[in-house]
Amino acid sequence: MRVLRFAIIMVPLCFALSGIRVHSQSATSSQTVPSTQSKPESKKSLWGTNKDKPQPPPPPPPKLEHFDPSQVDKTLDPCQDFYEYACSKWNAANPIPKDQVAWGTGGGLQYWNESILREVLQKAATPTANRTGYEQQIGDYWAACMDEVTIEGTPATRSLAAGMEYIDHLKSKSDLAGQVAHLHLAVPGAWRGDDNQTRSALLGFGPHQAYDDATRVVAAIDQGGLGLPNRAFYLKNDDKSKEILSEYEAHIAEMLILGISEESAEQGAADAKTVVAIETALAQAQMDNVARRDPKNLNNKMSLKEVKALTPSFDWKAYLEAVKAPPSSPYYLVSSPQFFRSLEQVIQQYSVDDWKVYLRWQLIHGSAPYLYKPIAEENWVFYSQTLLGAKQPLPRWRRCVRTADRDLGMALGQAYVAAAFPPESKQRAVAMVHDIENALDRDITDVDWMQPPTKAEAKVKLHAIEDKIGYPDHWRDYSPVKITRGSYLENVHEATAFEFHRQLGKIGKPVDRSEWTVTPPTISAYYDPQLNSVNLPAGILQPPYFDSTMDDPVNYGAIGMVIGHEITHGFDDQGREFDAKGNLRDWWTPEDAKAYAQRADCVANEYTKSGVEAGVKQNGPLTQGEDTADNGGLRLAFMAVSNKVQSENKSLDIDEADGWTPRQKFFLSFAYSWCTQYSPELTRTVESTNPHSIPKYRVNNVVSNMPEFQQAFSCKKGSLMVRDNQCRVW
Ligand SMILES: [Zn+2]
Repeated sequence: MRVLRFAIIMVPLCFALSGIRVHSQSATSSQTVPSTQSKPESKKSLWGTNKDKPQPPPPPPPKLEHFDPSQVDKTLDPCQDFYEYACSKWNAANPIPKDQVAWGTGGGLQYWNESILREVLQKAATPTANRTGYEQQIGDYWAACMDEVTIEGTPATRSLAAGMEYIDHLKSKSDLAGQVAHLHLAVPGAWRGDDNQTRSALLGFGPHQAYDDATRVVAAIDQGGLGLPNRAFYLKNDDKSKEILSEYEAHIAEMLILGISEESAEQGAADAKTVVAIETALAQAQMDNVARRDPKNLNNKMSLKEVKALTPSFDWKAYLEAVKAPPSSPYYLVSSPQFFRSLEQVIQQYSVDDWKVYLRWQLIHGSAPYLYKPIAEENWVFYSQTLLGAKQPLPRWRRCVRTADRDLGMALGQAYVAAAFPPESKQRAVAMVHDIENALDRDITDVDWMQPPTKAEAKVKLHAIEDKIGYPDHWRDYSPVKITRGSYLENVHEATAFEFHRQLGKIGKPVDRSEWTVTPPTISAYYDPQLNSVNLPAGILQPPYFDSTMDDPVNYGAIGMVIGHEITHGFDDQGREFDAKGNLRDWWTPEDAKAYAQRADCVANEYTKSGVEAGVKQNGPLTQGEDTADNGGLRLAFMAVSNKVQSENKSLDIDEADGWTPRQKFFLSFAYSWCTQYSPELTRTVESTNPHSIPKYRVNNVVSNMPEFQQAFSCKKGSLMVRDNQCRVW
C-alpha cells in the first residue's frame, strides 16, 4: 500500500523499481530469479548447474571494503569532477560482477550480510530433535528452497495446477474480485499496489496510517496492476520504450506457454496482446509518480459506498470477505479515485475470457521465481537481464537467503544482530544521530529565510523524531506460519498469506509506533514521516558506511551523511507537510512556505539540468525530495563533525600522516561510500522510475553546492564543482 517512507538506497541491487519506499524489499525484489529451456542462443541457460550434481560450496565472503584514500586518482582535478577523482580508480578495478546490475563499495557488504544469514539458515536446516519452532521454520524454509532436485522435477504446469483450476471458476465479472483476493493472498507483495509495481495484481489494498490522525490505521486502496516498472513504460513513444514493450509482450507469451497446459504458441501470442492491452489501459488510468509525491493528492477519504460507486463492476464486498478484512475502518483512503473510475471502463471493455488470461498471467508471473528453471529463467531474462542488464543469475543460495529474509526476516534478523552488531556499534551510532540532530537544530536557528513561528514548529518536530537504531525492540512472532521441507512455492504462499493478514489486522487499530518495516540485515535506512522516525538497520551500520576502525571525519562523511539524509527527509518538500506527530498538517506561514519553495525549486532545476545518462534525463521534480535530503544530509554531517572536532580542540584543516586533512577525508569518504557503477539498463530504469538520482550526481551536485567542499580542495570560482548559483535548503 501507499506507505510513505523515504529511504536512501545504498546498494542498488536491492531496490524496488518504483515508488518512494524504494528499497525495503531488498529481499528478492523478484527480479532476481532464473531457469533453462531450449531457447535461441542469446537466451541459453545461464544457470548451468546440473541438478544431479551437488553444487560447489559458495566462495568465502569477500572482505569488507574500508575507506581507502589511496584509491583517489590524483591525476584528476577534484574541482572539476569530484566523483571521478574519488571513484574512478575503484570503479575501474571493480567491474560489475556478472550476476549484479550495479556494483559499488557496498556490494561486498551485501554478500557479507547474506553469508552470515546463510550460516544460520544452513545450521537450522539440519533436522535435529531439539530445534526450536523458529529454527524449524527457517531451517525447513531453507531446505525446501535449496532442494533443486524436487523443484526441477516439478513442471510449472503441475505446480500451478490448483491455481489455474481456481481461475477456471471465473464465470462472470463479478467473480473478478474474489480472484484478485486469491492472488493477493498467494503472491508476495501482490496486494501492495503502486509500491510494488511489476508484481501488483490489478490494484492494491492494505492498511495505512491516517494522514490527518497519525494515531490510527485505516484501510487504503491503491492503483496497481502493471507488470512493468511504471506507467511510462507503456505510454512513452520513443524507440527504446517501444522495443522494451514489445520484448515484454514476447516474454508474457513465453510465460503463458510455459505455465498453461496446452497453450499453443499462437494462443500465447494472442493472450500476451490481451495482457499488454489491459495493462496499458491501467497505466493510462494511473496517477504519475511526480503527482504521487504530494500526499495531499493521495488523501482522498471515502465511504465503502463511495468506493463501490467508483468501480461498480468490482465486487468490493466479495473482495473484503475473501481477504478477511476487518470491517472496522472508519473510512477508505483512495490514493487515486480516477484510477478506479477508469478501472470500471477497463473491466467492462474486456471479456470474461480476457480477464482469465490476465489472471493466469498474474499467477504465473507472481509464482515464477519459486518454480523450476524454464519458467524461473524466462522471468529472470526479462526482469533482470532486459530491464536491468544482469548477465548471470545470482547463485541459488543468495536467492534463498533473500526470500528467507523477506518471508521470515524479522526472526532471522536476531541471529544477524548477535553476529554482526555489538552494543558498542549501537552506542556510537546513537551518539552520531544525536550530534546530527543537534546540527539541524543550530541550522534552523541560523537560517535567515524562516521566521520564528515556523522555526519553533520545526524544532518541535525535530526534537520529537524517534531514532530507531539497529533492530526492533520486539521480534515478530511467525509461529502461525506453516513451513515444511516439501514445497518452496507453498512455503512462499504460507508466508505471503500470513504477512497479508498481519497487515490487514492493523486496520481500525491504533498504530504500532515500534514497528520496523525493514529487516535488520538490510543495507538501507529510512525516514517515516507519519511516525516521525529515523530508522537505521544494523545491516548498514557496517564498513564502508560505519567503521569502528576509522576516525570521526571518515564516519561522518559516510554514515553521517546517511543519517543527515534521513533527518532531512522530515523537512524536505514532502516531509515538511507532516507535523511532529506525523499528521498531514500545514505548520508553515505562507511567507516561509514560499521561501521554502524557492529553495526547493533551485534543487529541482539543478538536477533536471544535470545531463543525460543512458539516453534519459534526470527528472528534478521526481528526485527533489531525495536530492534535498542528500544536500542537507552532507551539510548536517559536516556541521556535526566540525562541532565535534572543535570540542575536542582539534582541527579539520591540518595535514595528517597520510597526506590528507580531516576535512578532505570527510568529503572523500562521502564520495567513496557512493562509488557505484550501474549497467546502462539499470541507469535507464532508475532515471525514469526512481526518486533517487544516480550516484555521480548524488556526489557531484551535492559538493558543488557547498563552500565547505571548495575550501577542502581549494577550488576556484569557475570550476565545475563551484556553482555560481548554489542551492541550499538546509
Ligand atoms: Zn532518502
